[in-house]
Parts: sequence; C-alpha cells; structure tokens
Amino acid sequence: MKVLTSIVGLAVAILLSSIIVTGCATNRINLANTDQIDVVKISSRSANITKLAVYSNDSGISVSGELRKRIPSRGRIYGHVDVDILSPDGTVLFTTTSNYRRQNRKSHSSNFTIGIPLVLEHGSAVHVTHHRAPLEWHKTIT
Ligand SMILES: [Zn+2]
Repeated sequence: MKVLTSIVGLAVAILLSSIIVTGCATNRINLANTDQIDVVKISSRSANITKLAVYSNDSGISVSGELRKRIPSRGRIYGHVDVDILSPDGTVLFTTTSNYRRQNRKSHSSNFTIGIPLVLEHGSAVHVTHHRAPLEWHKTIT
C-alpha cells in the first residue's frame, strides 16, 4: 500500500511538472509590449484598436487585436484592418489587409488575428489601421 501511494505521488508530481513546463512554453512574449518593435495603432472615427499583440511563431509573426466601437451600440463594426510591416529604416516590407469578426451577435467588439510570414528585425515597426470602408474598396485602391 505504501508503494502504491508513492507511485501515485510520483505520477502526480510528473503530471504537475509537465503542466508547469507546458505553461512556460506557451507563455510567449507580446512583442508589442517590448521596445524590440514599434507598434502604431491608427484607429478610425468609429472604432478603437485595443489589446494589440504581436507574437513570433515558427512561420513568422501573428498580429492580433480587438476593435471596439467608440460609441457603444448594437450591430457590427464596419470596415477592415490593414497591417503594414516597416523595416528599421522605414521601408514597407509587407502589407496585408483582413476582415475581422464578432465573437457573437451580442458582442460590442470584434477580434482579428493576422499571420505574417516575416521575422521581425529589432527596430521594425508594425502599423495597424482600421478603415471604415469595406475590404473590397481597399483592394481597388491599392
Ligand atoms: Zn484599408
């Protein structure tokens, strides 16, 4: 019985340590909160960009955030999000544009996550813009 108890104890210890190790591995650094990159949020008259996060991953980076209406009201937030990546000397390296979605019909905010196949150099800039026009309009402009 004593042996069994210690085996269970050992199993629990291994389980706990694996949970802690996994926790550390997923505890990634939000580059937007560091001075490694310069993050510029360009909100529109209708919505603010909040909770902006930039994480590096195996295929580059992911830029995520939330859009909140300036004046809380029902209905969706019209428009789209543009992300521009600039090198330390200000050259535009990558431009992409994306739609976003509400978590549910009652939600006053929308979320977006945009994958960018680029490794950010120290001093790079990430510009995130909310445009109120539909995504299709942006495509015809650029
Ligand atoms: Zn746009």
